[in-house]
Amino acid sequence: MEKREQLYEGKAKKVFATDDPNLVIVDYKDDATAGDGAKKGTIRGKGVVNNKLSNNLMKMLAEKGVPTHYVQELSDRETLVKKVEIVPLEVIVRNVAAGSFSKRLGVPEGTPLNCPTLEFSYKNDEYHDPLINHYHALALGLATQEEIDTISKYAFQVNDILSAYLLGFNIRLIDFKLEFGRLPDGTIVLADEISPDTCRFWDATTGAHLDKDLFRRDLGGEEEAYQEVMARLLG
Ligand code: ADP
Ligand code: UDP
Repeated sequence: MEKREQLYEGKAKKVFATDDPNLVIVDYKDDATAGDGAKKGTIRGKGVVNNKLSNNLMKMLAEKGVPTHYVQELSDRETLVKKVEIVPLEVIVRNVAAGSFSKRLGVPEGTPLNCPTLEFSYKNDEYHDPLINHYHALALGLATQEEIDTISKYAFQVNDILSAYLLGFNIRLIDFKLEFGRLPDGTIVLADEISPDTCRFWDATTGAHLDKDLFRRDLGGEEEAYQEVMARLLG
């Protein structure tokens, strides 16, 4: 597969065209940002960890019936994926109160929720990814009702599958963010990444953070934590 021109450079990944118009190559960087871009830095080795972990998790999810963009891992940092039109929603599932949920609602971080929750943010940097509900998504034409139903179903399915899978490695899945995309025929598939950048992982015994919160909150040890998650999941 020929790597062609760079189509996009984001905060954590670059996207390249290939000689197949339906496929792109994502290239994972070590760059990290937090606090809506206020904090910038690097987490050494993060790109490799996120690439390998995300691919591993997407393969596992596909086997269990959740369609994804994953095609083939090309190198430590590069993966061939199906090119999609990203649905401009950050789809967030929560099992335990943390982060913005705790702040907004005054629920102490670590409080288990009675049932998993689902929320949408409008992917719009200029307006800081505002929280919206599904009526807003419909009203703004971000997705159709049918797409929202499909996305919601997949998001809860991913939660069930991932929560059980991670507990096998003594990791609690606190919350996570997903992105979905449309294939040329309109089929919705899971896209972007699933990694310690986009999930909260807590050690199930000690409660230690094994995710980007170490960087976001200046707690330190983020490099080691990313390596730890990779070692647990990929051996
Ligand atoms: P950001 O854009 O938030 O800085 P990244 O650095 O992770 O994020 O950039 C990756 C970009 O690629 C994101 O905008 C993401 O929505 C997009 N993307 C992820 N998967 C695909 C895909 N399969 N096809 C096209 N674009 C994708
Ligand atoms: N998240 C993400 N990208 C974002 C915002 C959130 O991947 O732009 C993930 C984050 O890693 C966490 C979940 O979504 O697992 C919920 O994040 P929250 O809304 O609590 O926001 P934060 O506290 O990170 O601002």
